[in-house]
Amino acid sequence: MTLLELSEVSVHYGRIKAVSGLSITVDEGEIVTLIGANGAGKSTTMRAISGIRPVSAGSVRFDGEDITRLRGDLRVVRGISQSPEGRGIFPGMTVLENLDMGAYARKDRKDLKPDFDRVFELFPRLAERRTQVGGTMSGGEQQMLAIGRALMAKPRLLLLDEPSMGLAPQFIQQIFRIITEINRQGTTVLLVEQNAQQALSRAHRAYVLETGQITKTGTGRELLADSSIKEAYLGVG
Ligand code: ATP
Repeated sequence: MTLLELSEVSVHYGRIKAVSGLSITVDEGEIVTLIGANGAGKSTTMRAISGIRPVSAGSVRFDGEDITRLRGDLRVVRGISQSPEGRGIFPGMTVLENLDMGAYARKDRKDLKPDFDRVFELFPRLAERRTQVGGTMSGGEQQMLAIGRALMAKPRLLLLDEPSMGLAPQFIQQIFRIITEINRQGTTVLLVEQNAQQALSRAHRAYVLETGQITKTGTGRELLADSSIKEAYLGVG
């Protein structure tokens, strides 16, 4: 079943067109990844899906409904949750408080224990540091916290913008393993990544974004084997 569908979406910043007539779909249960160079429009596409940035043309549909003009906070209620680029945790709040904030839009806030348990199982490091203030945590730990907070919304679609950014190699491996596990537990994932090797090997399907447009699509495996992708994004010629 198609969970997310962007049709001919364009997004502007003033007169700059950052995304131009972009169409993608994400099926329920998939990990889909968007790869592309700096400035290709990956983050902008994520913002259009989460509702942070309005679209200037085209439509966004989620679970069969048109959400093109729906406010961002109401999209969270529908089941779209984003872990933003640059982490964006609340630096003055503890790990527990940050996670609790992730659940703000839920109607069933009375019983969050299973959700805290799920996050602490995925990220044991957060369990150890539950009373630590977010801003004092390392970059990798803050990245885990951002993903954990997004999960507390119990999303049907988890949007991850550059989850491996700035992480040491052993953390990168770990984050991608955890993303696969989150997906295995039933959450659909749309992932934006510069680390194309890892992202493509974890994704069911992928899209290549160049200057605001989709230029290629296929399974993760197909794109990993594609010679032009290898040259442009995998650092092998
Ligand atoms: P990166 O991998 O470097 O984060 P990206 O693929 O996520 O890049 P975007 O951040 O979506 O790219 O940017 C797409 C284009 O839109 C770029 O040309 C960028 O300069 C421009 N852009 C992004 N945000 C703004 C903004 N707030 N105001 C003006 N232009 C912007």
